[in-house]
Amino acid sequence: MLMPPYLDSFHPPRRTLMGPGPADVYPEVLAAQAKPTIGHLDPLFIVMMDELKSLIQYAFQTKNEMTLAVSAPGSAGMETCFVNLLEAGEKVIVCRNGVFGERMRQNVERIGGVAVMIDFEWGKAVDVDEVAKVLAMHPDAKFLAFVHAETSTGALSDAKSLCALAKQHNCLSIVDAVTSLGGVELKVDEWGIDAIYSGSQKCLSCVPGLSPVSFSPAAVAKMQARSTPVQSWFLDQTLVMGYWAGENGGKRSYHHTAPVNALYALHESLRLLSLEGLENAWQRHADMHQVLRHGLQRLGLKFVVCEADRLPQLNTVYIPQGIDDAKVRKQLLENYNLEIGAGIGALAGKVWRIGLMGHTARRENVALCIKALGEVLVI
Ligand SMILES: *Cc1c(COP(=O)(O)O)cnc(C)c1O
Repeated sequence: MLMPPYLDSFHPPRRTLMGPGPADVYPEVLAAQAKPTIGHLDPLFIVMMDELKSLIQYAFQTKNEMTLAVSAPGSAGMETCFVNLLEAGEKVIVCRNGVFGERMRQNVERIGGVAVMIDFEWGKAVDVDEVAKVLAMHPDAKFLAFVHAETSTGALSDAKSLCALAKQHNCLSIVDAVTSLGGVELKVDEWGIDAIYSGSQKCLSCVPGLSPVSFSPAAVAKMQARSTPVQSWFLDQTLVMGYWAGENGGKRSYHHTAPVNALYALHESLRLLSLEGLENAWQRHADMHQVLRHGLQRLGLKFVVCEADRLPQLNTVYIPQGIDDAKVRKQLLENYNLEIGAGIGALAGKVWRIGLMGHTARRENVALCIKALGEVLVI
């Protein structure tokens, strides 16, 4: 066995990442990350941070002042939303149609909140009428939480209608947009979303480890009206905003050392998204999904999610009878440098999840995936 010091640096292979994330990272983003590290309070870094904030606002289609990137992956974005908004004893209606809805429940309960669960079959979108009924039964609920794009199943839910419903029932909406941001239509202000979080490594095609979040003025007011301190010191937005915005519009203060180079990377990936244009990016995902869909169906693979609810950026298909799941994925990885995702939760061992996220959503990758799957499945 080798013992430190090692003679060789780590040399990862160049893979094509067609799983549930991370997605292929833009070469420009990798290059941006390799630029010189400067201080996180350096005046030039602050200029970059101001641009980054407006780029995140663009991606979310929001004017929300409290818009930033949490210095940790999407899961921390989820926790940021729950831990800042919720206080013990408060009731949250949580829609669960996959793995991530279940994680929302765990967040609520760890805070001491009351999670009222609405369950939907895995692979189905959240049923808006069903949510309306449950909201009517719980007039004391303070929040409605749901996952826009369920990465465990590939189902897209109607965020616009769900947020309108939340508003009618005086609930704040908490939306998981980790997989939806940059891949499908998402309009935070127009749809009236109150708290939203995403991740850098899915349709933004940035390196993993950052979570863009945004809070509406109503969500900020809820935070300011808290009677108890936020349980998490690190994720407490009132403290973090001292760095992102400066205290009382003044100087930015130290909270934690910002992940300087990772933020360069996010700035670059969002800059590329803004150059392409959000609508164009959504369309590219939709187009590439159609090409992939034809290819998968030619191979005889069947989709888990009905056409109307299907996510273009995450395609879940049943593993054909008699096929060895792990062996196929191993062959794809070793012989084609191609990663596709396994099933998780209730779909573990039953499906493959083929991602077309961000920079991955290109014709050459679709062609590689169909060719490789076709060859591996006949062996
Ligand atoms: C990936 C994902 C997360 C978690 O993001 P991490 O960056 O892995 O922490 C949360 N919600 C959804 C819907 C996701 O797809």
